[in-house]
Amino acid sequence: MIDDFFAIDYQVHSFRSHDGKSSIREQCARAVEVGLDELGFSEHKDFDPADPVVDYFDYDAYLTEIDAARQEFGDRLKIRAGVEIDYQRWFEDKIAAYLDTHPFDFVIGSVHHIDRVMLMTPEYNQSRTAQTAYQDYFQAITDSVQCGLFDILGHLEYANRRGLGAWGPYHTEDYREELTALLDLVIAQGLTFEINTAGLHQNLGITYPVATTVALYAERGGKLLSIGSDAHHPDQLAHAYAEAARLALSHGLTHVSTWYQRHATLVPLKAR
Ligand SMILES: [Zn+2]
Repeated sequence: MIDDFFAIDYQVHSFRSHDGKSSIREQCARAVEVGLDELGFSEHKDFDPADPVVDYFDYDAYLTEIDAARQEFGDRLKIRAGVEIDYQRWFEDKIAAYLDTHPFDFVIGSVHHIDRVMLMTPEYNQSRTAQTAYQDYFQAITDSVQCGLFDILGHLEYANRRGLGAWGPYHTEDYREELTALLDLVIAQGLTFEINTAGLHQNLGITYPVATTVALYAERGGKLLSIGSDAHHPDQLAHAYAEAARLALSHGLTHVSTWYQRHATLVPLKAR
């Protein structure tokens, strides 16, 4: 499944996320089984006081479990403690203050809400055209990149999760202008670009972002890359890793970033 690639999964959830379906221990055991070199947990942390799960994430309990997992699996697997921040621009100060006092190995910035409506719900598309649905989404992503708080841009083009059903096939070319500006900003900010394989285990047949947007990122000069499955259950861990690695390599993206205390080390995908 992983072929001969250096193998990471840097978008992984456990019961430490409100929607996780397995323990940290179970995810680590599965990572060893499938042959991952590094496992980066990216538990959800939310900031909207109106969100019923806003206080779900327990930082201290998380690190305690990570420590225990490192003791048990540390000789076979590197385990990194990251976080996936739900980015909404009105909570920027809160996010910054939180990250100042809660160290992580890496921080993913992800957009799941636009104007307080969840992207993954039909409501998001109901009040929009295809054009405005994607343009509003790209604007929110641009804000998240501009704020400078994050290491990794989480699942770009996640608007496709509901967008494909609402609007039909998505083409990078239709949003080339917006995407070019956005990817140039990502590169200028030194943010790491993620290929997220969740769309493949959600049976949408696409990665986030789609392959043609990965190509555009490389064409604009992007080099920094993360790969994640967005596994909420061990069955999804490292899903389609070899496919994502081959996609990256086919566009000249030769290295993946590994993280420790928010410093990245680039490792060749073809390391073994
Ligand atoms: Zn997410």
